[in-house]
This record gives sequence, structure tokens and C-alpha cells, in this order.
Amino acid sequence: MQNQDFKHNSKLAQILAQLREQIKQKYSFMEVCGTHTVSILKNGFRDYFKNKIDFLSGPGCPVCVTAQRDIDKIVCLAKQNVIIATFGDMIKVPGTKSSLEKEQAKGADVKIIYNPLQCIDLARKYKDKKIVFIGIGFETTAPVIAALVQDAYQKNIRNLFILPLLKTIPQAINFLLQSPKVNINGFLLPGHVSVIIGENPYKFINSKYQLACAIAGFEPLDIALAIKSLLSQIKDGNPKIDNVYRRVVKKEGNPKAKVLIFKTFQKCDTYWRGLGIIPHSGLKLLDKYADFDADKNFSLEFEIEEKATGCICGDILAGIKSPLDCKLFGTKCTPDNPIGPCMVSIEGACSAFYKYGLTSINK
Ligand code: SF4
Repeated sequence: MQNQDFKHNSKLAQILAQLREQIKQKYSFMEVCGTHTVSILKNGFRDYFKNKIDFLSGPGCPVCVTAQRDIDKIVCLAKQNVIIATFGDMIKVPGTKSSLEKEQAKGADVKIIYNPLQCIDLARKYKDKKIVFIGIGFETTAPVIAALVQDAYQKNIRNLFILPLLKTIPQAINFLLQSPKVNINGFLLPGHVSVIIGENPYKFINSKYQLACAIAGFEPLDIALAIKSLLSQIKDGNPKIDNVYRRVVKKEGNPKAKVLIFKTFQKCDTYWRGLGIIPHSGLKLLDKYADFDADKNFSLEFEIEEKATGCICGDILAGIKSPLDCKLFGTKCTPDNPIGPCMVSIEGACSAFYKYGLTSINK
């Protein structure tokens, strides 16, 4: 639904008209989820609130935040006569010199999967091969990867490995908010991640930074209600974690999924593209599952070099720049020829801007 179609949804149109009317100064709201970025662009929110709200894309796309050095590590693995099992978005992301797609063209065995649990079938089918699953994602994906590890452990599967590149969102938000370059008045918090972790892990955003927060769903009305909540919190000087996605997100999150995560992983420092190392923002396998850890079972020696490509994905993920600030956007960098991960993933800001936002970018 583009913005001109808001009038076909009277409740939504009414809320939006009231909101636009009441905004007297410009605000910057960060959405910390690639699905929100897509929905905001696709549904015309940027145009509708032009000069009133800047929507900043945060570090909420798992492919985008995977560092160049981790892509190089994946490429290094792909060269070792293994089967790489990965979500499809990962194969085009360029590392320093290569990508999974390029390695596949040279003969590497790369299989695209949709559910990590498919790796059990792969391990059984290809008994004489080592299967390495590229475990990217946030708290949303962590439980299913944990289930994979638990299942493989119980079934004593010996030819399956996980490269754990999981990241956690609250630590990234905290890190961003410590930067003097970041100017944010409120957060649309990610619906999917919140389904797992609930409301409490975000409380520091209110107490430490006095910023408004709304946990939001992905339909246009969900986003409108989240914006309404942020504006109201700012007006009242009463920042809180307002869950406007209660039909899906429970205050306590999903306790079973949380137990599964902490039975399988432990916190670690991890490297985010463009942001650097963020303390305690990663999940690595517990020592009990070391036999499944690709980091511990393969020779992964490669030189860490961050190649300068002109890509500004890091600044976009930090909410400092927009895709149109990139000189390569739409010229040298397109979805068919992506230079950075934000153009590869369908949830990446550059890809979403390219598809839906060429006329509506808040620079
Ligand atoms: Fe990187 Fe391409 Fe986006 Fe520029 S347009 S920031 S090169 S992904």
C-alpha cells in the first residue's frame, strides 16, 4: 500500500493525518529491523512524513551487519572441500577478494537452505562430507540454530559444524547510543526479535538515555501506532517501552526459546560491520558443543584486511548516513551488482531504497 492509498484505510488515514498535523519539529526515529525498513519505504511513510520524521535504518539486517572479515572466513571455509549450507542472501555478499557465489562458480559446494534444521538431512545424506552451516542472525534465529545444535548432539551427528555469527540487538543499540554522531529521538523496536526477548532487555534505553521506544509490528497500521506512541512519549516527557505489537510480543518474550539459547550459547564480544567490536553482543557455542564449532574444527587462517570499496554500509547501519549519501548507490552498486551487503539483502537499506525509495529519501 503506497501512501496515496492511505485514504482507502480510514482508520490508518485518520491516525496519519492527525500525526502529521501535530508534528511541529523534525524528529529522527530509528527502526532496528530490516523488515521495518522495507515496510516504511514500501508503504510510503518516508514521503508522507517528509521534513517531519527522518526514518534511520539501524543495524537490524543480519546479512548487512556481518563483517567483511567474516565473509572472508566463510570463503576460507568454502575452499576446504566442505558443503556450505547457508541462507540465500549470504551468497552474493562480497568479502575482500571473493564471495560464496564466486567460490561456487569455481566449484565450491554451496547449498541454500531455508531452515537450519535442514542441515540434519544434509549431514545424513552426505555422510562422507563435512557440512558447515553459516549461523547468521539475531535473537530471532538463535533458537532454531540452538535446536539444530541440540538435535545434532542428541543424534551424535559427527559431520555437522556451525559457524556461529549470531548477534544480539540490545547491545548494538547501547553501543550506537554512546556515539556522539548519532542523533535519535526514538526507536521502533524490532517485532521479531522482541517475540523472543520480550520488553525488559530494552529498558536501559529509557533509563540511561531517556529515549522513547515502541515495539512495532510490520503492517502500516502497526507502524502508524508505533509512531503515535513515540510522539506521545516525547510530548509527555515519559519515555517507556510501549509494546504496540501485543498480539504477537509478550512482555516476557518466549521463555522456552530463551532457555534453548542459553543452554546452547554463551555471550561473547563480536565484530559488526561498520561498528567494530561490540562487547557481549555475540553468541558463541558453549564448550560442551565445541565439536560442532567450525571456528574450532577448521583451519581458518586468513589475513584480516578491510578493503576500502567506497561502500558506506557501516555509517548507514549506524544511522549516520542514508543510502543516497553513497556515491555508488544506483550506479556502480545495484541489486544485480552489489558492492556492499546493504544492497544484497532484501532487508538491506540500500536494496529497499533502490526498490521503493528512490523518490522518498530523507537525506
Ligand atoms: Fe554499500 Fe552499495 Fe549501499 Fe553504497 S549503495 S552503501 S556501496 S551497499
